[in-house]
Formats: sequence, C-alpha cells, structure tokens
Amino acid sequence: MNSAPVSYRGRFAPSPTGLLHAGSLVAALASWLDARAHGGAWLVRIEDVDTPRCVPGAAQGLLAQLAACGLVSDEPVLWQSTRHDAYQTALNNLVSKGWAYPCGCSRKEIEDAQQQQRARHTAAVYPGTCRNGLQGKPARAWRLNVQRVIKDLQLSHPTHWHDRRLGAQQQDVLQEVGDFVLRRADGLWAYQLAVVVDDAAQGITHVVRGQDLADNTARQILLQHALGLPTPRYLHTPLVLGVDGEKLSKQNGAQALNLNDPLAALNAAAQVLGLDAMAGTVQEALKNWTPISNHVQDALIK
Ligand SMILES: [Zn+2]
Repeated sequence: MNSAPVSYRGRFAPSPTGLLHAGSLVAALASWLDARAHGGAWLVRIEDVDTPRCVPGAAQGLLAQLAACGLVSDEPVLWQSTRHDAYQTALNNLVSKGWAYPCGCSRKEIEDAQQQQRARHTAAVYPGTCRNGLQGKPARAWRLNVQRVIKDLQLSHPTHWHDRRLGAQQQDVLQEVGDFVLRRADGLWAYQLAVVVDDAAQGITHVVRGQDLADNTARQILLQHALGLPTPRYLHTPLVLGVDGEKLSKQNGAQALNLNDPLAALNAAAQVLGLDAMAGTVQEALKNWTPISNHVQDALIK
C-alpha cells in the first residue's frame, strides 16, 4: 500500500431544476464524507447549462439547503453557465482532430431511423446519419465520432471501468448509445461535455454521485480520452426510491428537504449509506460520521 497522502478532490454537482430532496442529499452527503475521510477537498458545482430546465432561485435555494446541513464548498462554487468558452475550446479541439462532426438531423428524422432499427431488434441509438457529411442539411447539433475516437486512440472496446461500489462495469457506447451529442441543436452544451471539461478543470480525482448517473460514465471516459484528460475514480451511491419503486423525483412524491430539521434529513441520508443515526447538532453528526466514513464504501457493498 502506498502510504503517501492521497490527493483527493471531490465534488457535488446538482442541476438547479429544483431544490434538494432526500435522494440528492444522499449523493451530497456521500461525496462530502468520502472527501473528508480522504483528507480531501469537496467542491460544489452548479450544473446550469440546460437553462430551459433551470428553476429561478433553485440554485441559491439548494446552496442554502446544503449549508443548513453543514455541507459547504471548500472553494468558490463553479457555475456551468459561465463556462461557455471552455466548452467551445474543447469542441474545437475535437473537431480539429476529426472526432466531432455536425449533425443536421431533426428529432423526427432520428426517431424515424430509430423505428427502423427497432424493427430489426437493435438498440435505439443515433444511427450515424451525418457521420460522413451533412448531405446539404444545415448543421444543428455536434456529435462525437465514437468509432473514430476508439480506433485512433486504440481504446479498449467496449469501455470498461471499475466502480468503487458496483464493481466491474462496461458499456459498448457505439452499440448502446451511438455518436452522442456534444452541443445541442438549440445551441446549449450537452451534459456529457460540460461535466468532463469541468471535472478536469476542477482537478476532480473522485466522483461520488447517484446511481442514476452511472450509465453516463462510459461516455464521459471516452470524452476524457479524446480530450487528453484524466479519468477520475467513480462511486455511484444507492438511489432513494419513491412510493412507486422508481427513483425519487418530484413526480413520485419527493419533498424538498425541510430546513427546519436538517439533522433528520441528514440521518435519513446516512441510513441509506449504512451509517447510524446521530443525535446532537449537524456539525457533531458530520464529525462523528467522518472517522467511520472510510467504511462508507464497505457499507455500500451489499
Ligand atoms: Zn444527423
């Protein structure tokens, strides 16, 4: 074992599409405890690139909720809405290598192509219509040429990674997703590109986030390789399920956290992580969980 201190930089990166609920607090608490257990830094990033889905005031509201729970970013909060130039630079970089191309397909054209694919019992992926040129159509979105990135960089295929909780993972991005979008037809930056550029810019070494985001990991690893960026370690936390057994969301009864009793909210989140409930103040509870949160990973493995 290497006894040198681990350089650890973790993050919690909510989208301000609403306030924190019980499910999102699990990811926030897990990422904070993992950072503290490693003597590392914990950063907050507001993922507000999808502006039509952002709710006015939600970002400030969820930062206030985090603060009430004793979870405060160690560095100034990074707002993705300020990061346009960095994302454009990354896209230009990919285009210059021949790894990104413009796509002129309308939503309907892609759906029609997917219908034909479904009839052949293949996955509903972007069919690669514009990979070899726009054929006179105007450019709408920009996509990553997955096959060329894998071939040019001689990457293993399917994409493999190790999740600290879920173990060995793999995804065949080409077959299961296809050439995914980097910049959307509406001009907004795609989640995958923004996350990869910002994780690298913030020097993130460990990503701890909800399991609903696990299937983005292979796409992000491909983009990291394409942009020459390091791949962080990943841990995906258990989801809190709603009454219908689906992931907790506003649609199935997720309530915004009650700021009048942040300890109760933290205790509920800690329970999902396999930690005991604590009495006292929020600060005391966080302090008590931190020495044992080295074992958060163990507790999470059923
Ligand atoms: Zn297209």
